[in-house]
Amino acid sequence: MTRLADHTTLRVGGDASEFYTATSEAELIELVAEADSNSIPVLILGGGSNVLVADSGYKGRVIKVATKGIDEASDACSGGFITVQAGDDWDGFVTWAIGRGFVGVETLSGIPGSVGASPIQNIGAYGHEVSEVIARVRTFDRKEKAVKTLALTDCRFGYRTSLFKEESDRFVILDVAFQMKNGELSLPIQYQELATYLGVSLGDRAPLKEVRDAVVAIRKRKGMILDSEDRDTYSAGSFFTNPIVDADLAPKDSPTWKVSEGKVKVSAAWLIENSGIEKGRRHGGAAISSKHVLALTNKENATASEIYELANLCRAAVRDTFGIELESEVRLFGFA
Ligand SMILES: Cc1cc2nc3c(=O)[nH]c(=O)nc-3n(C[C@H](O)[C@H](O)[C@H](O)COP(=O)(O)OP(=O)(O)OC[C@H]3O[C@@H](n4cnc5c(N)ncnc54)[C@H](O)[C@@H]3O)c2cc1C
Repeated sequence: MTRLADHTTLRVGGDASEFYTATSEAELIELVAEADSNSIPVLILGGGSNVLVADSGYKGRVIKVATKGIDEASDACSGGFITVQAGDDWDGFVTWAIGRGFVGVETLSGIPGSVGASPIQNIGAYGHEVSEVIARVRTFDRKEKAVKTLALTDCRFGYRTSLFKEESDRFVILDVAFQMKNGELSLPIQYQELATYLGVSLGDRAPLKEVRDAVVAIRKRKGMILDSEDRDTYSAGSFFTNPIVDADLAPKDSPTWKVSEGKVKVSAAWLIENSGIEKGRRHGGAAISSKHVLALTNKENATASEIYELANLCRAAVRDTFGIELESEVRLFGFA
């Protein structure tokens, strides 16, 4: 039996009935296809940084994706077309890209997890999203039992969502291809806190490495860089997405961002703090991070149930105070 707590950044989760590590694409497809033909439930795992697995564990086959490799096809005019295996470490890829002078992932520095998971919730941070540089995603389609390549426009990317999240459990991501320009300067800085840190104006560009260093420094302050010495980082990142509501339903004082005519995104962090839940709030061994109210953490030998209950306390407080429903960004396994 393999304890899933050892494979998730929240460090909770019971045993998996079966646990495999797939180091090749062929092995990954075979393990999934064989489980499907025997009706065995499958949980595909990357870095375990966006999942909450119940204390009762996972009754089925957990497959950890550990395929590795970066394949680069560059030409001087258009930049690079870079294909990365699903099991590669996301931040390792970011470091590599910056070192090679590829522009587009610098603000996504320090996000834990695998390259294969990056399209699933269209990871984003500090004003940019991974979909801005994705060219295509190669998958094993479990419904059609075939390898299928999806072009950017087929992936239905949106704020923390994609086709892969909408049709969860259908696609196993095998590799991701990125189209990136070469340059020394970043994409335009679109996030005020980052612009202030860098001493530039919104819309300016800054050297790639300086942007990475700034993002990493800001993330450290918020406990958003994994650090085994810092319990505030024993989390799954932001537990909730920023809810999108009718503009007239957004609380008057909350930070909002317009998403479409009549619709705004409201800061989930503001909603939680203003419904009476403060940083550091404990619930058994679980706690709201002392640095970032959106991160639910394993403060001291927490159980998965305690983290789940703390999430429900946040949801209920926001619902009762503002009538707004918070959606989980984290994928839950084994909860009703
Ligand atoms: C400290 C911290 C900070 C974070 N900051 C951010 C942030 O700034 N922005 C952001 O967007 N996210 C952030 N996250 C969330 C998380 O890091 C990302 O969502 C990341 O992409 C998850 O990658 P993973 O490999 O760990 O996925 P996992 O947690 O292993 O899996 C997540 C989901 O993807 C599925 N999955 C994983 N790999 C595959 C595959 N190859 N094929 C099909 N399905 C797959 C799993 O089944 C599961 O449903 C943060 C998390 C932590 C812990």
